[in-house]
This record gives sequence, structure tokens and C-alpha cells, in this order.
Amino acid sequence: MTPLPRATDLFVIGGGPAGLAAALAARRRGLDVTLADCAVPPIDKACGEGIMPDGLAAARSLGLDLDAAAGHPFRGIRFRDRDSAVEAAFPNGHGLGLRRTALHQLMVNQAIDAGVRLAWGVRVSGITPEGVIADGRLVRARWIAGADGGQSPVRRWAGLDACHHESRRFGFRRHYPVAPWGQYMEIHWGDRCQLYITPIAAAEVCVVLISRDPRLRLEDALPGFPEVQGRLAAAGPSNLERGGVTASRRLKAVYRGNVALLGDASGSVDAITGEGLCLLFQQSVALAAALAAGDLSLYQAEHRRIGRRPEWMAGLMLQLDRRSGLRSRAIRALAGRPNLFAGMLAMHVGELSTADFLANGLSLGWRMLTL
Ligand SMILES: Cc1cc2nc3c(=O)[nH]c(=O)nc-3n(C[C@H](O)[C@H](O)[C@H](O)COP(=O)(O)OP(=O)(O)OC[C@H]3O[C@@H](n4cnc5c(N)ncnc54)[C@H](O)[C@@H]3O)c2cc1C
Repeated sequence: MTPLPRATDLFVIGGGPAGLAAALAARRRGLDVTLADCAVPPIDKACGEGIMPDGLAAARSLGLDLDAAAGHPFRGIRFRDRDSAVEAAFPNGHGLGLRRTALHQLMVNQAIDAGVRLAWGVRVSGITPEGVIADGRLVRARWIAGADGGQSPVRRWAGLDACHHESRRFGFRRHYPVAPWGQYMEIHWGDRCQLYITPIAAAEVCVVLISRDPRLRLEDALPGFPEVQGRLAAAGPSNLERGGVTASRRLKAVYRGNVALLGDASGSVDAITGEGLCLLFQQSVALAAALAAGDLSLYQAEHRRIGRRPEWMAGLMLQLDRRSGLRSRAIRALAGRPNLFAGMLAMHVGELSTADFLANGLSLGWRMLTL
């Protein structure tokens, strides 16, 4: 265990992907960085384990070559409901399915190489204007990054809990030792929930159930998805379900004084977008630039810009979740015009402008009206 220092430039609270990414980005700017997490690596979490092409690019800008890890590439996204299916490839590059523990270990190794001071099994119990209270004593810090997840105590301590909007759903993840049956990450839409399936190895898939009902479990939901159930039936799950809350939350501010939030602590988009990791990689780069400039208002502006597109897409997905009539018409319309779905996907991964997308949206609306 690395002993905590008396003082540091940046103290990162939380050593999940956001904390590690922030630490890496700040080290690249030459800051002395200390990170503490109450858990011990490799840290697991309920996650769909899919990283979109823009997420892989953002990770590369932190020096993280996720393609070198033992993951599984996928070409695009496939939507399926009871009556129709549509799929499209990413306009450039590929996505990657990567076990959460493998991602975490890779990031920890990179942080060690970069010279981040890592303190595992250390709970932070408060912050003061001078620094952070960790293991019961003060560590002086010029800057503090709160990367302590969706329930973020740092957010509360810093008085940053106020948000524009918030809604919650519940996710349950399980792995199955089954060879991926396609080259896409699949989202299966049901009446009360969605299943999304990410290929993560040559002989393994990650299955996530997302719904508004905290009591609904994968094995109760699977009979509603006979195609998926049939494919998974050959092999039982390789582990127990791991659950988590997925929130759609936009904070009014993501910094105060010398404290900045990132990752799920700084707000989040629904898990069905598969954008959580991409967002936090991008936020880390923006935070490090703002720290180097000594001005966290730059981070606030960039955080807002980064979040806009995923929030918009999440809003659209949640409309499809809530309105089954709209959903089946939309998926049927997209199935008839797969180039529209390809346009949506290009917009989702930042390869198409909002104006182009709006033109696409109008065509989709027209198609739905004329079906
Ligand atoms: C069901 C589900 C599926 C998802 N699927 C995807 C997907 O396919 N693709 C994608 O990109 N995103 C996905 N996401 C989102 C993604 O998982 C999150 O955005 C990401 O995990 C956020 O990472 P984080 O580091 O901000 O938070 P966390 O991973 O929650 O890390 C926070 C860390 O802070 C530590 N901590 C908390 N309090 C303290 C304290 N007081 N002192 C010290 N340490 C502390 C915790 O131990 C923890 O390690 C999904 C989310 C859910 C719920």
C-alpha cells in the first residue's frame, strides 16, 4: 500500500474508471497525483461492458490502448423487438466488449506506470478547504476530483447536488459462456424492459437487463425474449447477477472552488446509451486541461458540451422505453430504411452533425407517418 502523502497537487477520490482516467490525464500534464478508493482492484461493477468507437478514441488520448486488452470487437448496433430488427455498422472503427475487471486492471497498471500514487482500501471521509480527510487525517491538496460514483458523497460535501433533472432505472448484469452469435452489440426491446448483449470474448457474452422495476430479474425477463433465451439455454450463466442503478442526471454545476466532479459523480446518461465510459474518458481530458490552465470554469463549459449529444440520445431511447407504440413504429420504420438507422448510429458516436441528424430525424418521422 502506498502511504498517503502530506500534500499533493490533485487528490482523486474514487478509483473506478473515472478516477483512474482523471489521474492519468493529470499526470500527462505533469501534476503530482494521489488517488484513494475504499475498494481494492480489480474493482467490478454492473456494466454492459461495451465501449463505443468514440470511447476507444478518447481512451487512446489518455494513452490507453484498449484494443490491446483481451476484449472482443463489435461492428455496430442491432435493435430488435418482437416484430422487426435493424442493424448498422459504425461509420468508422469498431466498438469493444471488455470485461469490467479487465478494464480496471489495465487502467490500474497504466496509472502505476504513469506514477500516480494509489491508495487502495482507503475511505475518504470528508473534504476541507485545505484538502481531503483520508484514513482519518488531512492530506493537503491544491485540487480535488470527486470520481466517487453515482451516489457521490463528494458531490454532497461540495454542495453540488442540485440537478436539472433526474430519473433512475435498474440494471442487472450476468455473463454467459456462449460464443457471440453476431458482430453487433444487440439491444432487445421488450414491453417492460430491455436486454442488451455485448460480445466480450470468443466464447463469452455479457447480458444486461434494464428496467424501471427494481424487482425484475434476468431469469424472470428472459422468457419474454425467446430468441435470446434459446441462444443462452445451451450454457448456464457463469456468475451471479450483479445489479446497479443507472441514472439520467444533469447537475447544475460540476465544480465549486477547487473541487471538480467527473464520471457518474458529475451526472450520467442512461446505461442503454453505452456512453458512460466514453463520457468519463472525455471529461478526464477536459479536466486535466482546465487544471493546467488553473480555471475550472473551462471544465464546466467543456463538460456541458461533451454531455449534450449523449443526453439527447438517452432522451430518445427513454422515449422508446416508455412508449411501446412509438417504439414498434420506429423500429419498423428503421428496419425499412436501414440507412436512417446508420445515420442515428453515426450521430450517436459523434460522426454526424446535429443538423445532418435532424434531416435524418425528419425522414424517419415521415417514414413512420407513411407506414
Ligand atoms: C447496468 C449498467 C450498465 C452499463 N453499461 C455500460 C456500457 O455498456 N458502456 C458504458 O460505457 N457505460 C456503461 N454503464 C455506465 C458505466 O458503468 C459508468 O458510467 C461508470 O462505471 C462510471 O464510473 P465511475 O468511475 O464514475 O464510477 P464507479 O465505477 O462507481 O467508481 C466510483 C469509485 O469510488 C469509490 N468510492 C466511493 N466513495 C468513496 C469514498 N468515500 N472514499 C474512497 N472511495 C470511494 C468506489 O469504491 C468506486 O470504486 C453502465 C452502467 C450500468 C449501471
